[in-house]
Amino acid sequence: MAKRIYLDNAATTQVSGEVLNEMLPYFTSIYGNSNSLHSFGRDADNGVDIARDRIAKAINANTSEIYFTSGGTEANNWALRGIAYANQKRGKHIIVSQIEHHSILETCQELENEGFEVSYLPVDETGLVSIPELLHEIRPDTILVSIMAVNNEVGTIQHLKAIGEIVKDFKAFFHTDAVQALGVLDIDVKDMHIDLMSMSSHKIHGPKGVGALYVRKGVPIKKIIYGGEQERGKRGGTTNVPGIVGFGKAIEITKRDLKIVNKKLTNLTNYFIKKVEYEIPNIKINGNLNQKAPGIVNISFKYIEGESILIKLDLNNVAVSTGSACASGSLQKSHVLKAMGLKPEDVNGAIRFSFGVDITNDDVDYVVRKLTQIVEELRAMSPLNKKVKK
Ligand SMILES: *Cc1c(COP(=O)(O)O)cnc(C)c1O
Repeated sequence: MAKRIYLDNAATTQVSGEVLNEMLPYFTSIYGNSNSLHSFGRDADNGVDIARDRIAKAINANTSEIYFTSGGTEANNWALRGIAYANQKRGKHIIVSQIEHHSILETCQELENEGFEVSYLPVDETGLVSIPELLHEIRPDTILVSIMAVNNEVGTIQHLKAIGEIVKDFKAFFHTDAVQALGVLDIDVKDMHIDLMSMSSHKIHGPKGVGALYVRKGVPIKKIIYGGEQERGKRGGTTNVPGIVGFGKAIEITKRDLKIVNKKLTNLTNYFIKKVEYEIPNIKINGNLNQKAPGIVNISFKYIEGESILIKLDLNNVAVSTGSACASGSLQKSHVLKAMGLKPEDVNGAIRFSFGVDITNDDVDYVVRKLTQIVEELRAMSPLNKKVKK
């Protein structure tokens, strides 16, 4: 089979060898239920403790502030609902940005149905949340501000610390969806005044189906998953020991290699962008080139459909995305690019390329060669293209 090139690391990543090795014993010999009191249980629980410690260290939190979940989606659901229900006597106003992940936006819609009020902050054309807009919207009955750290479609990095300071001044709680940020930023929850933070394992070369919510000590939060006494009584359900062990290893490796990986991805994507700009006319690079995840490149190819490009690249063994995995599955147009004010034709023609360190310059050459051919073919057939002069 021909070599396949995976440029969809923002959707999910391959589990690394180091992570897999760390996990394997927890499927075979160390299979106890970590809540059992016997030695089988204690051995499993020990693995969970090590992982919790690694995660806490990576973000400058205490181990008692880390709660494991089934992933970023559950962490986001929990942060919003948990804070809303526990603090509604103080106020019912919540602020989020318009470019949040669907797990935030859909939970907000539901909270609105339940009587909470949600303000959706606009972003500028590069995907940055406006600080003056936040100051304009925040008020005494605001209980929660939730702004993602790094956007999954365009990679824009928000000014977390500045936002955290404002939220603190107004005595609201600050939650950030840091799922895409773990592999990109050195996050210090104390320095950035973050009260709650969602994390996920499978975006950083850990296993799928596991994540965590950081909840600063003293922040009142209601639980949403009832059951056993797992996670200090805050989240029921038998502990996903192998997954958690893998997540812990993945975050440790990510932190250890952060600088080297970022440098490599920056070089790779700069090379890619330069080549694409040289080879293909009428494109628009979306996002904030000064402040973005180094592995994510989002490009609009004018006059053609992103889906058509994706399908043709797939036929040539190159995997890309038209936006977030969930949105592209339903063929809905990107709410992120819309919020950034892109014209409809630029939203339609957008492709997200998200790189991993396994990609070589030769791979980039191949991808750009195929991409150039595909864009030419599609534009030759496009009725939109005929109307414009090149
Ligand atoms: C992938 C992703 C999520 C969801 O995390 P899961 O672990 O897949 O549920 C949430 N937010 C962002 C920004 C993401 O990229």
